[in-house]
Amino acid sequence: MSLEVVYTIEDLRFRIARKRAAGATIGLVPTMGALHSGHLSLMERARDENDSVIVSIFVNPAQFNQEEDYNRYPRSLETDVELCETVGVAIVFAPSAAEMYPEEAYTSVEVSTITEGLCGAFRPGHFTGVATVVMKLLQIVQPDRVYFGEKDAQQLAMIERLVRDLNVPVKVVAVPTVRDEDGVALSSRNQLLSKPDRAKAPVVYRALRAAVAVAASGVTDVEAMKAAAAAVLAREPSVRVEYLEVVDPATMQPVEKVDQPVRIAIAAWLGGIRLIDNLLATPRR
Ligand code: AMP
Repeated sequence: MSLEVVYTIEDLRFRIARKRAAGATIGLVPTMGALHSGHLSLMERARDENDSVIVSIFVNPAQFNQEEDYNRYPRSLETDVELCETVGVAIVFAPSAAEMYPEEAYTSVEVSTITEGLCGAFRPGHFTGVATVVMKLLQIVQPDRVYFGEKDAQQLAMIERLVRDLNVPVKVVAVPTVRDEDGVALSSRNQLLSKPDRAKAPVVYRALRAAVAVAASGVTDVEAMKAAAAAVLAREPSVRVEYLEVVDPATMQPVEKVDQPVRIAIAAWLGGIRLIDNLLATPRR
């Protein structure tokens, strides 16, 4: 069956009801478009696990804390739809901002603790914007499974908790980060990097790897992990580190010892572009 592009909630609900009536299971992949192989890996996983895949493409104004970032965020609906078609996606849901937010909302979804550090500390309101739009999409689509990338580990942990806390009847599926050959995590924002900045971007992944190597060697002191990452980042002085943290993967709270799997997470600015990445580090047993 060929792909359908749907712009309204009413139309989407109508088409989903038809699929449900035919007994289809549904997987939802929420995105902001400018699709790349990272998104593709979520869509393929969804296709393998469900009868029908719905991809939402919505650059959600509520999760941008800087208007400039929202305005310059890449948009490429036509090529995104073509890519979705190659994977066998059933429906692309591409609503306008007015469709998603027809009036001032009095209700929002806020997940505490998990969202307070890391990106949450630097992007006020961001995670409430994400949690609210994801909750809306889950209400609209009511999928069996919803797919998120580990690249945005704090977002993933937040959604897992939101679904548990509010008894949302959906399975959250975490998908590993897809990287370029030089280790850079794929991101829609990468295309905004200048050529020289793109050449410097692998330093973030190298720093994460250095920290993971410290933990793998048996060192349990988090400060030693952070020092190893910081030393690598210092080799590219034009890369400005926003945070470098080692956290519990479920709560996103800082830890002091690597006595369980931990997540090392970095946010860094290159030119005017903010990149985030993370890796899981496991203690040596
Ligand atoms: P975005 O369009 O950036 O909001 O991302 C949509 C989904 O794709 C989120 O669940 C992201 O975590 C996921 N994603 C983005 N980049 C990657 C990547 N390089 N590998 C795997 N998943 C990704």
